[in-house]
Amino acid sequence: MPIDATQPYDDQNIFAKILRGEIPSTKLYEDEWAYAFPDINPQAELHVLVIPKGAYVSWDDFSARASDEEIAGFIRAVGAVARQHDLVEPGYRLLANIGSHGGQEVPHLHVHLFGKQPLGPMIAR
Ligand code: AMP
Repeated sequence: MPIDATQPYDDQNIFAKILRGEIPSTKLYEDEWAYAFPDINPQAELHVLVIPKGAYVSWDDFSARASDEEIAGFIRAVGAVARQHDLVEPGYRLLANIGSHGGQEVPHLHVHLFGKQPLGPMIAR
């Protein structure tokens, strides 16, 4: 069920539980600002989720409320995950779903990182 991107942060969401170690995940990257782990239902050869450590519902919430330090740290972490997986050449795709039209299901900001194959058209028609 897609979420309403304006809802308050729910600290019982699945990614909050992953950050607290209450639900298992395979750590692919971690620093002060971000945590990355494989998507449980991969849509490409490589499908990684990168999440900020702070409590933000969506890209909208993050871009409005996060500190410059948190934003810089998270954006740099996404780039680091891509480099860690040798994706810069031949390229990769980032995706953030926001709210119901975006199809966002988990109410903790996450960036999907897809790679290791040609990724096709940007949006299915
Ligand atoms: P979105 O539609 O952008 O909110 O995407 C949520 C993503 O979270 C989906 O691609 C799910 O497969 C993924 N997901 C849900 N639960 C887990 C989990 N426990 N571990 C890893 N990925 C998950």
